[in-house]
Amino acid sequence: MSQPRAFVSRMMHPDAIAVIGEATDMEVWPDDPPPSAEQLRAKLADAEGVLINIMDRVDTALLDAAPNLRVISQLAAGLDNVDVAECTRRGILLGSTPGILSKAVADHAFALLLSAARRVVESDKWVRGNNWELAFHPNYWLGNEVQSSTLGIVGLGQIGLEVARRAQGFDMRVLYHSRNRRPEAEAQLGLTYASLDELLSQSDYVSLHCPLTPETRHLINADALRKMKSTAILVNISRGPVVDTDALCQALREGWIGGAGLDVVDPEPIPDDHPLLFMDNVTITPHIGSASVLSRRAMSIMAAQNLVNGLSGQRLVHCANPELYERLGI
Ligand code: NAP
Repeated sequence: MSQPRAFVSRMMHPDAIAVIGEATDMEVWPDDPPPSAEQLRAKLADAEGVLINIMDRVDTALLDAAPNLRVISQLAAGLDNVDVAECTRRGILLGSTPGILSKAVADHAFALLLSAARRVVESDKWVRGNNWELAFHPNYWLGNEVQSSTLGIVGLGQIGLEVARRAQGFDMRVLYHSRNRRPEAEAQLGLTYASLDELLSQSDYVSLHCPLTPETRHLINADALRKMKSTAILVNISRGPVVDTDALCQALREGWIGGAGLDVVDPEPIPDDHPLLFMDNVTITPHIGSASVLSRRAMSIMAAQNLVNGLSGQRLVHCANPELYERLGI
């Protein structure tokens, strides 16, 4: 019996490739450079399933070029690169991998927070420049305390909660802002709900964990940045466009805030002459929040399972448009 055709847009963990290979007639893109939008459209001409990541854009042009597509499996939690409504309209199941990556992302949020607070990247460069002799000067290399400071979490979902848990270990006071209050989390973790303005003005660290939506695009704009403390550090590990990059550059240059730890930027990849790359008070990593060995293996297997389940008429491990189940009779 012939198997459904599936295209995988990046090489992944071999255990995940094995899951897909067993159940489908699979083609895997042989890695660098990743497929362009045009190449992806060509690969999907006869595919019934595809496994993508956040750098692949699923828009009407792609869906038009993929008339047989029944399942899209995204190796990520966020889905801002995908036209979810259009997939649902066309009856295409959409899988993603939230939850299993939350701990790894929260660890990385804290790595950025600590790095920016204690000037880790900046001082590392200085050591490599042969400047060690001034290191223990009483007035040099002073950074911000983390313990007993105030952390503001914007978007208290699965990752935001993990960040709040880590903050307990640093005796931080934690404020959070989401559209809905989380009374059980407030009680369990001692969190305090705040309006966005209150959170921005009171926090020593502001960490962003909301999805990118029309509502959150440029949520952190010039007005928001001006409300933050001049010593505060902004951590963005959500999506680049949640922050207005031009306003952030101005804020960092003019001292409206103290620094930033960024795992995501707008645009990605960041151009090599971008002003953020020349600022000492900025730590940047290349969108690697979920990139721990354990997390990436678990994500890959979950994404593979989503793809295979959907192609064999079963419910996905995590489905972003479960309203389709009834329509598709599964
Ligand atoms: P989640 O569990 O859905 O949590 C997102 C939270 O954001 C929700 O609790 C939601 O609460 C809140 N939210 C939504 N709109 C908001 C708004 N306008 N203002 C304030 N809060 C808002 O998602 P997650 O798994 O924690 O992931 C969050 C995001 O992290 C993803 O969407 C993705 O963009 C990003 N991410 C990045 C990486 C990385 O490698 N850098 C990895 C994984 C995920 P309410 O509905 O109550 O507002």
